[in-house]
Amino acid sequence: MIEIKNVSKWYGSFQVLTDCTTTIRKGEVVVVCGPSGSGKSTLIKTVNALEPIQQGDIVVDGTSITAPGTDLPKLRSRVGMVFQHFELFPHLSVTENLTIAQVKVLGRSLDDAKARGLKMLERVGLSAHKDKFPGQLSGGQQQRVAIARALSMDPIVMLFDEPTSALDPEMVGEVLDVMVQLANEGMTMMCVTHEMGFARKVSHRVIFMDAGKIVEDCTRDDFFGKPEARSPRAKDFLSKIL
Ligand code: ATP
Ligand code: MG
Repeated sequence: MIEIKNVSKWYGSFQVLTDCTTTIRKGEVVVVCGPSGSGKSTLIKTVNALEPIQQGDIVVDGTSITAPGTDLPKLRSRVGMVFQHFELFPHLSVTENLTIAQVKVLGRSLDDAKARGLKMLERVGLSAHKDKFPGQLSGGQQQRVAIARALSMDPIVMLFDEPTSALDPEMVGEVLDVMVQLANEGMTMMCVTHEMGFARKVSHRVIFMDAGKIVEDCTRDDFFGKPEARSPRAKDFLSKIL
């Protein structure tokens, strides 16, 4: 589904990613963790070419992001992305937030887009809030709308970058519950998160990054169950968060 092949990236002269290689298969839930500044956000943004890469390649569902002629807007429309900050359009209602990209990018009729959007809103438990504006919702509710908005586009994969880290603690659970439900339904997911409870419960694999490199890429059971077999940096990270 996503093949990340020998990817290196620089910001100016600073190398932020070094020879990163991994594959995310259909239906797999992969958690990406690691210390601050290790390149997690950068890696996830390269997947839909929000950040360009200078070496290597990424293939999303058979389409290379670096091949000349690749329709990046089309590719991005199939990759759902949810960030730390909800990034809903503040001047649009929840329903409008859910429909605008479906109409503008996918060319759906407004009726079809509404039907799809409201179905996804129901899925995240927020049907009652369809006519509100983002500012009238809690952070957790806004993040669930952001997830519903991404799902409305029928993504083939969902990318998450610390979707719960800007939330008040009491709202983290409701967003994680939606993510767990998605994972259990078989959605392909790549999630940057420090929520190790989530990682233990639903992830298939864990990628641990340090200083721009993928230093661990193993099954969840190996990552959490065999810390003695991990690299010193991952061991240190695990000892602090577990
Ligand atoms: P965090 O856990 O704090 O979110 P991260 O693992 O997501 O960290 P990145 O945001 O990918 O890390 O950043 C990796 C490195 O690249 C950091 O050293 C950061 O300062 C640097 N960096 C990120 N974005 C840019 C940019 N636009 N220009 C220059 N350097 C950047
Ligand atoms: Mg980050």
